[in-house]
Amino acid sequence: MSEQTTIHIAGTWRSAISGATREVFDPADGTVLAVVAEGGTADTDAAVSAARSAFDGGEWPRTPVLERAAVLRRTAVLLHRDCERLALLESRDAGKTLEEGRVDVNCVADAFLYFADLVSGESAGRVVDAGTPDVHSVVVHEPVGVCALITPWNYPLLQASWKIAPALAAGNTFVLKPSEITPLSTAALIGLLVEAGLPAGVANLVTGPGDPVGARLAAHPDVDLVSFTGGLTSGTKVMRAAADSVKKVALELGGKNPNVVFADACATEEGFDTAVDQALNAAFMHSGQVCSAGSRLIVEESVAERFVAELARRADRIRLGRGTDPGVECGPLVSAAQRERTEEYVASALAEGAVLRSGGVRPDGPGYFYRPTVLDRCHRGMRVVREEVFGPVLTVETFRTEAEAIALANDTEYGLAGAVWTSDAGRGRRVAGRLRHGTVWINDFHPYLPQAEWGGFGKSGTGRELGPSGLAEYRETKHVYQNLAPRPVRWFAG
Ligand code: NAD
Repeated sequence: MSEQTTIHIAGTWRSAISGATREVFDPADGTVLAVVAEGGTADTDAAVSAARSAFDGGEWPRTPVLERAAVLRRTAVLLHRDCERLALLESRDAGKTLEEGRVDVNCVADAFLYFADLVSGESAGRVVDAGTPDVHSVVVHEPVGVCALITPWNYPLLQASWKIAPALAAGNTFVLKPSEITPLSTAALIGLLVEAGLPAGVANLVTGPGDPVGARLAAHPDVDLVSFTGGLTSGTKVMRAAADSVKKVALELGGKNPNVVFADACATEEGFDTAVDQALNAAFMHSGQVCSAGSRLIVEESVAERFVAELARRADRIRLGRGTDPGVECGPLVSAAQRERTEEYVASALAEGAVLRSGGVRPDGPGYFYRPTVLDRCHRGMRVVREEVFGPVLTVETFRTEAEAIALANDTEYGLAGAVWTSDAGRGRRVAGRLRHGTVWINDFHPYLPQAEWGGFGKSGTGRELGPSGLAEYRETKHVYQNLAPRPVRWFAG
């Protein structure tokens, strides 16, 4: 298979300077899907240098905001035009179903449109009343500079768009490093930015491993900001590496997200069916490889047995298969390593006393598939309840009182997302107000809006993506104080 030149620097597609390549696998059968450039430190330095020149001497930071927004809007049009191609790439590379791929591409286009609209409608600054007509004081925003954008494999395009769109809208240049496991759709997205008219050097891409490419970006003295989405272990390394140069750091890390179900939500057949159905979706969408997956079911004791029995029955019926095959509901895990990690967690949970209600096995055949797994009788002493599995594994804990439910839901070092299911509107708002998580759903799970901030409390990260804060991440704030009638101050008498 011939190499795809996936490194993009200063407007040119290239191989790695070292000539190194990497095979990218189809997780549905383990065959080689593509061979891509395996960048290293020299490629990373060249990309940072291109982004630096495009920022310091290029037009993009000074391009009128409406022209920058127009490039974002053209990108959205191209994303819609190429939706099927991109969805197929995402499905083959990351193992998601084709339909999930299509949803992702539309969400990516929405992110570009949202940030285009946000900057288009802004005023140039905030005038501050200095208390005298002789002073004009204004607070303005400027781009941060060169941004390093590092993304994971579970939502390659979507996570990239949450960084690229605000970074460009604010006038920055960037170097993007996608996950080495799933670089294909990201390379295609960079192609669309070029087609949309982005000047050379503004968007640079280096495909390659976390170390050295990501590590070099995080430490590089010419990078002004690093925005990282990925796991806790890599995230802490990024923060440390960024410290010496005191760059701005935004981290979107993992989650161990509670899905709290009160008995009153299940009082009617319709309510019960909805809560079970959504718990299934919360835990097993994209085979649980979702940062906000509802991987901890915290259900009121009085309905727990019925709830878990129905959940397990439906989990057993989930149709696994290649994401492009019709009727498939869940694809494979992204890699052999990810499946082994999932199996280790399930084995440790069973050894610690969890009860297997469904799954817990690999199906026969090729590919990195694993059956959706429900583990009953879990508690906080178990690793599987505390740590992010990032696979199709749902743990079940029970509670008797509202206070106990809140305490369980908050008993995690993470704090990305959580949900509460109840027919009592007051209780819904009350519990939502007490949950220490960046997103809380009441009677729903998973939806997000580009207009609303996304990010985590605790070890789920620092900073926010999306919403106005997602744009603010990519800006410096400057106060310009103009004295309209300057006079000596005579602080020093002589
Ligand atoms: P990962 O941490 O292994 O890798 C993420 C990215 O970081 C990859 O591009 C990787 O090459 C790079 N990387 C690895 N080591 C690095 C280092 N030392 N310095 C710089 N970069 C380095 O994560 P993953 O396995 O690709 O993704 C899964 C994780 O991402 C999960 O923990 C998930 O919860 C998290 N995630 C979070 C969000 C969110 O919005 N909070 C969204 C998606 C995924």
